[in-house]
Amino acid sequence: MFTKILIANRGEIAVRIIRACRDLGIRSVAVFSEPDRGALHVRLADEAYPIGPAASSESYLVIEKIIEAARKSGAEAIHPGYGFLAENAAFAQACVDSGIVFIGPPPSAIRMMGDKMAARTVMKAAGVPIVPGTENPIDDDIGAIKIAAWIGYPILIKAAAGGGGKGMRIVHDQSEIKSAVRGAKSEAKSAFGDDRIYIEKYLAKPRHIEIQVIADSHGNCVYLGERECSIQRRHQKVIEEAPSPLVNPSMRKKMGQAAVAAARAAGYVNAGTVEFLADDHRNFYFLEVNTRLQVEHPVTELVTGIDLAIEQIKIAAGEKLSFSQGDIKITGHAIECRIYAEDPSSGFLPSTGILSVYHEPAGPGIRVDSGVYEGAEISVYYDPMISKLLTFGKDRLQATARMLRALEEYRISGVTTNIDFHKTILRHPEFIAGRLSTHFIDMYYKPSDEFPENLAEAAAIAGALMEHQAQNKLSLSAAKRSRVSQWKTAGRNLIQNRTAEKGWR
Ligand code: ADP
Repeated sequence: MFTKILIANRGEIAVRIIRACRDLGIRSVAVFSEPDRGALHVRLADEAYPIGPAASSESYLVIEKIIEAARKSGAEAIHPGYGFLAENAAFAQACVDSGIVFIGPPPSAIRMMGDKMAARTVMKAAGVPIVPGTENPIDDDIGAIKIAAWIGYPILIKAAAGGGGKGMRIVHDQSEIKSAVRGAKSEAKSAFGDDRIYIEKYLAKPRHIEIQVIADSHGNCVYLGERECSIQRRHQKVIEEAPSPLVNPSMRKKMGQAAVAAARAAGYVNAGTVEFLADDHRNFYFLEVNTRLQVEHPVTELVTGIDLAIEQIKIAAGEKLSFSQGDIKITGHAIECRIYAEDPSSGFLPSTGILSVYHEPAGPGIRVDSGVYEGAEISVYYDPMISKLLTFGKDRLQATARMLRALEEYRISGVTTNIDFHKTILRHPEFIAGRLSTHFIDMYYKPSDEFPENLAEAAAIAGALMEHQAQNKLSLSAAKRSRVSQWKTAGRNLIQNRTAEKGWR
């Protein structure tokens, strides 16, 4: 086993991996950019090395700086986390070339799966159903028009090297193709340095369901059930859960076996995720493979009892999986809400600032994976995710109730957050019924609905007391600015006053 691991990342995922190292008795090495000097991951690691200025292109993304820090510290292995260099085959190769173990799949598997078109070809050959579309690049709008006519509108233009929703364009009819091809190509070129695009059928209101797989270097590969990640804004996940309300045991087995076949076909080792889109009839289609630990991996940890970060390290050290498919049991239900510094009422625009108040919820069934503390800054330089709030319950209802309790308890000031947005979604009858789709937010979420229901009574009282409160310097101008009704603002102020009385600030 390793004695020292460098974590080539920041924020909550760096903290998560430092904790896995500590559980294994391994020393951890952090790297940090200038503004991250005092960050939580730096405070928690056993050692820390500076790697340059704030811009990730000059720090967290510079392969040579990371390898140099690993050399200096004497780390035998590097965990890349997610984002930054996690799915960069050249980085994985640079680790191998420097005699450092890359905690992840072999560079060849990253390369193959990082190319969405190549991945589609591999999956098809392995007998995995894929989203209808092409496996060859589209060069121009003439080619795109032909393919689109064959597939049928609406279609989705996607970047072969895509990620984070970049280079993706929905096209409803032929008149939109030309500008969509041009837009997708230039966005892909600037984001990935690769302008190859391809076409998929744009599925109507699908569900996003993914399978966690884990493989060792001795030929063992196991699936750890599914995660449903259908609640998305701008095609990016915001609430995830396990198990999926749609998936029954036979669908789980079919998807799991397809994912394992896919992993085997790619020569996959370590933890990976095979993403699918599914319809309400339980048909599913391969979307892409993520060759790393996912943001939402903890929901799988909660329902399987398997520590994925620890398993990743053991596999990289050459150990065999300590469980087989028959050992995997899904117990209870887990939900993750990604807590972002963003404003749902302004198109989920990121919000920056100092966390002047920061108090995490706790109690039965709660897990918070965060990389911040009170006084820390959410800056423009990095992803505005503050934390991942997770709950676990004996069933979906209990996990949801605990999530609502935890969201209610969470106190964050200094930035706008999506906490009230999560409450609104979790209370929606369609969410409670488990009728989810990737269009859920577009269909059901209106920022003006954002008000915790169980506080409606407080709002009514507050409304009646409006005038009195105005005299007590209630900020009515703030109510106008935020375009919410004064009725609701009064309710909020009442709640804030109450919590202030309780000493929450
Ligand atoms: P990225 O890697 O850029 O995040 P993905 O291929 O993982 O892109 O897709 C992200 C999301 O976009 C999916 O979860 C889904 O909501 C939507 N999406 C992608 N492909 C399709 C499709 N063919 N039809 C409908 N929605 C899609």
